[in-house]
Amino acid sequence: MVEKLTAVKGMNDILPPESARWEALETAVRDVMRLHAYRNIRTPIVEPTALFVRGLGEVTDIVEKEMYSFEDRLNGEQLTLRPESTAGVVRAVVEHNLLYEGGKRLYYMGPMFRHERPQRGRYRQFHQIGAEALGFGGPEVDAELILLAVALWKAIGLQDVRLELNSLGQPPERLQHRAALIAYFEQHADQLDEDAKRRLHSNPLRILDSKNPAMKELNDAAPKLLDFLGEESLAHFNAVKAILDVNGVNYRINPRLVRGMDYYNLTVFEFITERLGSQGTVCGGGRYDYLIGEIGGKHAPAVGWALGVERVLELLKEQGSPSPDVAADAYAIVPEASSLPRVMPVLQTLRSMGVSVQMHAPTGAADGMGSMKSQFKKADASGARYALVFGPDELASGQVTVKALRDGQGAQRTEALGHVAEWGHSLQSTLLP
Ligand code: ATP
Ligand code: MG
Repeated sequence: MVEKLTAVKGMNDILPPESARWEALETAVRDVMRLHAYRNIRTPIVEPTALFVRGLGEVTDIVEKEMYSFEDRLNGEQLTLRPESTAGVVRAVVEHNLLYEGGKRLYYMGPMFRHERPQRGRYRQFHQIGAEALGFGGPEVDAELILLAVALWKAIGLQDVRLELNSLGQPPERLQHRAALIAYFEQHADQLDEDAKRRLHSNPLRILDSKNPAMKELNDAAPKLLDFLGEESLAHFNAVKAILDVNGVNYRINPRLVRGMDYYNLTVFEFITERLGSQGTVCGGGRYDYLIGEIGGKHAPAVGWALGVERVLELLKEQGSPSPDVAADAYAIVPEASSLPRVMPVLQTLRSMGVSVQMHAPTGAADGMGSMKSQFKKADASGARYALVFGPDELASGQVTVKALRDGQGAQRTEALGHVAEWGHSLQSTLLP
């Protein structure tokens, strides 16, 4: 026997009927993005490694230990499977000079790759949906993005997420805070874990992002960035909060919220749930006014967020939200293969009218179509609302029997094959109560 090949650990196949939940989320995202005038951008999954090292920061979890980086065997280029998409979007915006006529509102969906320990809500290939507003510096766009996320939660029926908010201030404020942070951690050097010791002088803010429970108490008592903010940063933060207030969006200020990448400044936020254990952040984002400059563009402000698709869907399931109906409207029962040339054009007409039809087909070329009884069994199991019976008697009189399988079980009527346009619509699920 040939050895079976399996998917890479931490990388999942998304199969039907589960994939219907993905499609439903994607449809809701497209609607909500359109309503907020965000347009779709698609960037490559592979980018130069330098983009992430420069963009995300050298001393971050992602760059230090999570990236799938490799050398292109053919030309020696250093490449990386994207661990997130903001850096790639910024690269594309700069490369194509998209900001020359003003700000751009963009969104994306797609797979990301991080070499982490696989567990519930944490995978090596996972999927993000993200929104980015580039070229806008004011607090109203920070708020718009948060409102956009809230609108999405409403559209998909997501409950039990709370919004946490913080401000990381501006570079001079960060510098002051950094000095205070180093002094504080040096005083408690004996309580630092390995990561923290290593980062103490290279990137002390990252220590606050630690996932090590043993570091929590120490981090909780650390100097807060909020206490170092100057007037302008505070005004920006207060303006964001005021807009959320008038829109009835609840939030909690979390002075410990720093996010995992170095590119953030001013507003940062996360939507968090208690229902997914320690993988509770479903969406995170913030302002990144210096990233465009760092990636080689002309300085321009920007703000954005990304949500984890797996975590959002997991939470929806956890809440008991039903899976979308994937059954076809009708299942075509065809006792004799010889009638297929007459049957199949009828099915195509129905489909062109928007009626979804699953046609019975035998498993192997040599098998017959199977008995009526076994075909009805398949029709029932498919979940279709109607069976269309193309039996020899029906066909001889130019008709088809339409039998209700679910609502009004067993009710049946005959319809003329020559007048599909007149009765076909009645099978459409969108017309049913
Ligand atoms: P975490 O703190 O859980 O590691 P993060 O801060 O690394 O998350 P971001 O880089 O901000 O996450 O990514 C945004 C969102 O993408 C997260 O809030 C989460 O929902 C999702 N996400 C991040 N990493 C993974 C992963 N390995 N598997 C599944 N979802 C992920
Ligand atoms: Mg992470």
